Amino acid sequence: MAVVVTGAAGFIGAHLVRLLAARGHQVVTIDRRPAAPAAAGVHLVADLPDDHDSSVSDALRAAEAVFHLAGRAGVRDASADRARRRYRYNVLAAERVLGTVPAGVPVVVASSSSVYGGALHGGRLRPSAEADRLQPRGGYARSKVELERRCWQRAAAGGLVAVARPFTVAGQGQRPDMAIAQWLAAVRRGQPIRILGSPNRTRDVTDVADVAFALLRMAEGGVMGAVNLGSGVGHRLGDLAATVGAVVGQRPRLVIEPAGPAEPVATLADTRRCRRLLGFVPVTDLAALIARQVAAGPAPVGGPDAALAAAP
Ligand code: NAD
Repeated sequence: MAVVVTGAAGFIGAHLVRLLAARGHQVVTIDRRPAAPAAAGVHLVADLPDDHDSSVSDALRAAEAVFHLAGRAGVRDASADRARRRYRYNVLAAERVLGTVPAGVPVVVASSSSVYGGALHGGRLRPSAEADRLQPRGGYARSKVELERRCWQRAAAGGLVAVARPFTVAGQGQRPDMAIAQWLAAVRRGQPIRILGSPNRTRDVTDVADVAFALLRMAEGGVMGAVNLGSGVGHRLGDLAATVGAVVGQRPRLVIEPAGPAEPVATLADTRRCRRLLGFVPVTDLAALIARQVAAGPAPVGGPDAALAAAP
């Protein structure tokens, strides 16, 4: 199958490209930053909303499936122009892709679990299900709701589209602004681990290998609608930090800092739709996952997205 992956130079994109190539698919990648290609193929460097190079549009028109992962990730982007960037990279980039790929070609789009605004409802923990009313907190989550709206417009017009909602993805090459990557870097420097809010806050953590596999399944299965990509298990931030320490053989010091309003107390995926449509549910072995992340070394810092502040 001839496929296009946008955001291919990123954390999840690189894993997906390797998986697709290993399965024999012909991959065209699109990213606005040049990066060492994760696999052989055609690699286009383009800024999706602005770049009207015909090779990008041609690739999007010729594909048999498109994975749209390009975006401005991270709930804690502290850059001065984050609102503009989120709109351009999360909403306008999706518009370009959704508007170019023919209606009969499946497009799998990366949204985020952040559209739910967390799993705590009136003091009760309840896994977030795809049919829940969306309650985005903060600009990142709102931009993903906007992105999803563009997807549903494509679906309403008869186009094929599926929306993936990943829950905190971890593993080799994790974005340097994400919590586990930041904590590993801190421990290596002998610094304390910064926990936002409380060690009792919880996150559903998903193995990047499972996310890449799930994205592939979504395209192969012609899935329509939204699908949570999470494990259905919440991990205390304190336990995550302890696992980071155990993997590197240190007992890290923790400092608790205030959490911003975009930080949910808990995230937790309802995994029933994932199981029904994709035939599996991600299972996260935290210690093994973090050990793989450590063994792979830190993802290179740099590129246009390096200015992001820590994200869960
Ligand atoms: P990442 O930042 O590592 O990768 C995103 C890639 O998109 C980058 O390589 C970037 O250069 C590229 N990009 C951004 N804007 C672009 C544009 N206008 N044109 C072309 N390329 C562009 O992020 P990631 O962690 O791999 O996340 C991939 C997607 O999944 C993002 O949309 C993100 O919002 C979403 N997501 C990630 C997580 C997670 O835990 N990592 C969780 C939920 C959702």
